[in-house]
Amino acid sequence: MRRRDFVKTTAAGSAFLLTPGVWAQTLKNADPEFCYQSQRKIPVAYDVDVVVIGGSLAAVAAAVEASAAGARVFLAAQEPYLGEDVCGTFRLWTNDQTVQNTGLGKKIFANGLPTPMHIKKTLDNELIDNNIDFLYSCYITDIIKDENGVPAGVVIANRSGRQAIKAKTVIDATPRALAARLAGAKFPAYPSGKQTFKFTVVGNDLKKGPDMSAKKHQEPIQVKYASSGQSHGDAFSETDIKYSAIEYTLQIDMKDGSYQSFANAEQIARDLTWDANQVESSDLLFQNPPDKVEGQKKYDKANVDPDNISMDIFRPRGIDNIFILSGSAALSKEAAEYLLQPGKLIRIGERTGAMAAAVAGETMPAGELKVCSAGKKYTFTGDVFETLEGLRPSLNHGEIIAEETTLPVIANADVVVMGGGTAGAPAATGAAKNGAKTVVLEYLHGLGGTTTLGMIGKYFHGYRKGYTEIIDEEINNMAPGNPRKKRRLSEWVFDWKTEYFRKEIRDAGGEIWFGVLGIGAYSENGRVKGVVVATPEGKGVILAHTVIDSTGSADIAIAAGAGYSYTDGLSVAIQGAGLPFKNPDDFYNNTDWTFINDSDMLDVWRAFIVAKDKFDGQYDIGKMPQTRERRRMTGDFTISVLDVYNGRTYPDTISAHLSSFDTHGFTEDPFFSLKPPEHSGIDVLAFVPFRSLLPKGLEGIVVTGLGASAHRDAMPVIRMQPCLQNQGYAVGMAAAMASMNKQMIRNINIKTLQKRLVEMENLPEHVLTDQDNYPPPYQKIQEAAELVVNNLEGLEIILWDIEKGVAAITDKFYFTGNEEDKLVYARILGMVGKPDGWSELIRAIDTFEEWDEGWHYTGMGQFGKSISYLDSLIIAAGRTKKVEALPSIIRMAEKLTPESHFSHFRAISIALETIGDPKGAEPLFKILEMPGMRGHTMQDIKTAKKLTPPDKNDVSTRNSSLRELVLGRALYKCGDFNGVGIQILNDYSKDLRGHYFRHAHGVLQMFSGQKELQIEL
Ligand SMILES: Cc1cc2nc3c(=O)[nH]c(=O)nc-3n(C[C@H](O)[C@H](O)[C@H](O)COP(=O)(O)OP(=O)(O)OC[C@H]3O[C@@H](n4cnc5c(N)ncnc54)[C@H](O)[C@@H]3O)c2cc1C
Repeated sequence: MRRRDFVKTTAAGSAFLLTPGVWAQTLKNADPEFCYQSQRKIPVAYDVDVVVIGGSLAAVAAAVEASAAGARVFLAAQEPYLGEDVCGTFRLWTNDQTVQNTGLGKKIFANGLPTPMHIKKTLDNELIDNNIDFLYSCYITDIIKDENGVPAGVVIANRSGRQAIKAKTVIDATPRALAARLAGAKFPAYPSGKQTFKFTVVGNDLKKGPDMSAKKHQEPIQVKYASSGQSHGDAFSETDIKYSAIEYTLQIDMKDGSYQSFANAEQIARDLTWDANQVESSDLLFQNPPDKVEGQKKYDKANVDPDNISMDIFRPRGIDNIFILSGSAALSKEAAEYLLQPGKLIRIGERTGAMAAAVAGETMPAGELKVCSAGKKYTFTGDVFETLEGLRPSLNHGEIIAEETTLPVIANADVVVMGGGTAGAPAATGAAKNGAKTVVLEYLHGLGGTTTLGMIGKYFHGYRKGYTEIIDEEINNMAPGNPRKKRRLSEWVFDWKTEYFRKEIRDAGGEIWFGVLGIGAYSENGRVKGVVVATPEGKGVILAHTVIDSTGSADIAIAAGAGYSYTDGLSVAIQGAGLPFKNPDDFYNNTDWTFINDSDMLDVWRAFIVAKDKFDGQYDIGKMPQTRERRRMTGDFTISVLDVYNGRTYPDTISAHLSSFDTHGFTEDPFFSLKPPEHSGIDVLAFVPFRSLLPKGLEGIVVTGLGASAHRDAMPVIRMQPCLQNQGYAVGMAAAMASMNKQMIRNINIKTLQKRLVEMENLPEHVLTDQDNYPPPYQKIQEAAELVVNNLEGLEIILWDIEKGVAAITDKFYFTGNEEDKLVYARILGMVGKPDGWSELIRAIDTFEEWDEGWHYTGMGQFGKSISYLDSLIIAAGRTKKVEALPSIIRMAEKLTPESHFSHFRAISIALETIGDPKGAEPLFKILEMPGMRGHTMQDIKTAKKLTPPDKNDVSTRNSSLRELVLGRALYKCGDFNGVGIQILNDYSKDLRGHYFRHAHGVLQMFSGQKELQIEL
């Protein structure tokens, strides 16, 4: 269909002339309106016989059975774990004895009440052992059809973007049968009025109310004593902690079957059941759906035999190759209730899997496959901007056309906050309390992000005045006499903090939607008009005057076209990441044992799987990766290391940040290579200008938190929770101002905002009069150039204004007669790529007989230097690009042993690859030939499981891989030797770990031309 076939009913843009509240309300009660989406190509990630949508027990059983019948199978789970029907809804207790009759049920329930960890891990292993590919955190967004309109696969959305899965049959294990709905199956309208839901909480007091009844489970939840990261044997002991769990049956008023209504129902369930004793709650509401599909057959009776019930009841009328594996099948209410017990549904799953495989065997999709247009009239011009690169470029199996179409507007607001984390939850309170109609959208089922679900429930340093002080005090006072109340304001009870934000936002009139994935921006000519979301009820657009992107990795801004910085062909530097275990009531399990790219679903999948091996025996696994460093969009202004180090002031400061340089790894900036960051006791006060939160070239959007525009080495000071909470609140206020004043957020009166932030002590008073104190006066630079020979005093001034600083240093280098001073100048010049002092550097290197004390990557506690003095001389010599430096560098390279420090390998690699001479290749090759240097890739999940050590912060495999990759890269860039460099890069281009993949793939893309030029040896 061409664009002209659509009918546009109103002019876009005119909507923005209305006052925000009115604008929002005008649309609210209208029939669904639609936004335009252009034609696009969706990369194909998997080409299989059977695709399973959903990760329930039955879904896994179906996948295994289909695979056993010879089908190629892929499974996409909605939650960050498998078993959502049991772990997500907290239906861990079952009286269903038949569960023991199924292989899977027996593995899960044989030893009594299972822990979520046991269930999730058993399900993972079930798929892995049967070689079934699967991913977490995916929503289905579209059905692919063949030329005859027959379903031929699905499109899924996740944080890697959208991908197509070609499949001959679809097993739809989503509770609401979304795949069947998207394929055109018929369902009655969702009845409005009171509907029955179940919701489980743990630890809470029993509540009574008009629309609720409660069942206290006889058997308590039992948690191994002490969340130490080590399990204490297999058995539970007397000291173990017990919590009672209550399953509530709630009658909740539903307006309709929209996701907005379901999201609201979840909030009501939480309103009704929360109290300060809560240590855990369901992620998901459980419901036996009242609106069941029109099946090929209908089952009216109450009693049902899962072994013999006709499978046609699970197939939508008129669609032969979709199976509904949930309570949405064409069952009576009673039969569905019965079959939703785990043992029964697993059995139906097994039968479905076998049948789906058989149907796949008889199905041959006809002609071209595509995603067809919805063909609705659209009201809003603009387009959907999203990521369509596939899971990994090299893994794509071609592309599928998605026709030009329309997307429904599923809500609208003055301010939409995407991501309700550390900065996002305060952003929503800031916007809602300041009069904006606010919606906050969060994938997980709680607010607070890393501070809560990320299990970092206490501060490290940080600027703790202003809104943060209010949060801390109010959370601490939520239940004064409660024994769980923390003694310090710098830590909090997990469930209290999530509840605090939830209540604050709801009390201020804001809406909260959990279970929503932000997958794109709705934008026109750089003006972001809303966010594109995937929900368990389908895809849609939420329009807003201003979008606050609080995903912590600028997901929406980047989808809208913002540039960004991250690991790539030039850099593999990334802060250590982790993924923790979680027991009820845990609030702080800080880990650092891997690197994770949150925006790479294969990597996230790998991390969740190996983490369960690491923390085997714990009660549960965390629900979000602990990533300290993420994608940073390119803003109107990018904060440099020296802006932070020198306490740069700005006229538009929006937040104050206080911390030491908590680097969790090595630094890259030349300044730190000369003068390392201070240790953890010494804090730096840094300011963030509003411009660094505004993506360059985009209007209507602002980014908070870890996604802001800053050099990676500047971020360790900026990223602390107290400061990001204040930043979020300030941005929420700014967005409310923008929508009230009908302005673009870039144009708000920053001084008015700052005055209010000063009043509430979010900012110190001087920001009101602060001017930009960059650049430093030339005289100061010259003074520093004189003094720098004393322990690099004033280097931060010299390198801040690098052009003038280098000129001053160069003068000093040539004029000084003092050899030691000359070397200082030579080292600085070399580090910034100036060749003048190359001979001094070589002489200095040659004075070393042996390597000095280097630096090793560890898990946690990495402050200060990440290279030695000799490392810095070698890097500086390399950066002069003088081939004359090679013999000195190679002499030291030959002294390396497998036990040498990581920083020495890195220094040698950087020096040799920067010179790029083929003579550098053989020494690198020889290093790689030493025992233990090669073969550390993790290209498949079984290898990843095998190579990941059990200790909480063991980084040995992470380090071995990093060393191999850095050396292999350098070898390749020197022209390679025996093809080892390219082999290493090719191997890491297939590694499941996203940052190693990004680096290896990036090097191959960026330097392939150069390699041919340098190939002679
Ligand atoms: C292991 C670790 C230890 C740390 N230790 C400390 C410490 O001791 N003290 C300290 O002050 N700081 C610490 N930090 C730093 C600090 O916690 C983080 O910098 C900060 O919490 C990040 O805040 P954020 O708002 O950018 O992201 P987050 O808090 O992570 O919030 C992002 C939110 O957005 C959601 N989201 C993301 N993408 C999407 C999407 N596409 N759709 C829907 N939802 C989405 C996520 O689920 C999450 O809730 C630590 C960080 C880590 C990882």
